[in-house]
Amino acid sequence: MICDSHCHLKHGDAERTEYSPEAILEMMDAAGIDRAVVFAMSTTTKRSIEMAEDAVRRFPDRLIPYVYALPSYQRPVCDELEEAIGQRRFRGIKIHLGECTVADYVIDPVMELAGRHGVPCLVDFVGRYGAAESLATRFPQMKLIVCHLGQYLCTNAQLMDRFIGLAERCPNVYLDISGVVMLHKVQDAVQRVGSERVIWGTDGPHKTPDTTNFARLSLDSVRVLNLGKKAEADVLGGSIMKLIGS
Ligand SMILES: [Zn+2]
Repeated sequence: MICDSHCHLKHGDAERTEYSPEAILEMMDAAGIDRAVVFAMSTTTKRSIEMAEDAVRRFPDRLIPYVYALPSYQRPVCDELEEAIGQRRFRGIKIHLGECTVADYVIDPVMELAGRHGVPCLVDFVGRYGAAESLATRFPQMKLIVCHLGQYLCTNAQLMDRFIGLAERCPNVYLDISGVVMLHKVQDAVQRVGSERVIWGTDGPHKTPDTTNFARLSLDSVRVLNLGKKAEADVLGGSIMKLIGS
């Protein structure tokens, strides 16, 4: 079972690029990916639910929906999250620190809700280690997936080591290895934390060189590490499927 744990229906790039569910399926089929976790960002929580729900309605056996949490002090989103997870069977929550605040009074209700429902929060901390440590330690029941080993396309080994160290100390912390360019840090993560808490994703689709080859390259970047049969199977799908209870 190969599962892409991090696939965008809508990206957070400058163009706010969107991909149709059909384009994602085409990429998955061509690259040999069985399942994909899909979500939209750079939009409201409500719209993210509509987009993911529409995608999963078309491909219920292949796509797994996450809801995008965009809480603010003006606009609580917990009712929408509660409904998405409790009634519409969304399996996780995506949060991006580039688009929302992690001030306690805004983010804490979302963390509590995730912990209560047992769904993971996939959080892009944009390199802010302190924010990750605060959420991981204050909400031990909440399963926290740290995007990109802490920072997208990070070349700061020390910073990545701190995020890996957080996962070492906190059993509720998982490490997403999408968008990681220092591949030996993936080996370090597996060695220090264990393959069951290291999770592969493409962070795609991306057009360079094309969506299928972007996904293939991402898969190959794990396979060339020779992690061993079990560890590789965990990282490429086993870990995320277990985490979201599939
Ligand atoms: Zn992403």
